[in-house]
Amino acid sequence: MYSQDSISGHRRSRSEPTAEMLSGLQCLICGTDYRSASAPEAVVVSHRDDKQLLACRGTCARMASGAADGLDETPLPLAERVSRHSA
Ligand SMILES: [Zn+2]
Repeated sequence: MYSQDSISGHRRSRSEPTAEMLSGLQCLICGTDYRSASAPEAVVVSHRDDKQLLACRGTCARMASGAADGLDETPLPLAERVSRHSA
């Protein structure tokens, strides 16, 4: 017998973005914190309420925007994102 799971198991695994994601401080997909020194390069993948949503260049960006390089847009500098987040 085949399991029904493969047919009806289309489950919503993506939860609402966190405040850090909305401020561009975390990857929208994997949650990597861009304030960490070892964080990968972030690219703009979407917008929400006039803010840029970022994801790691590569797999995360492709999942979020369909392109590994994200949108053709430059992310705000990290320091600017941090100060907006804490404002
Ligand atoms: Zn990521």
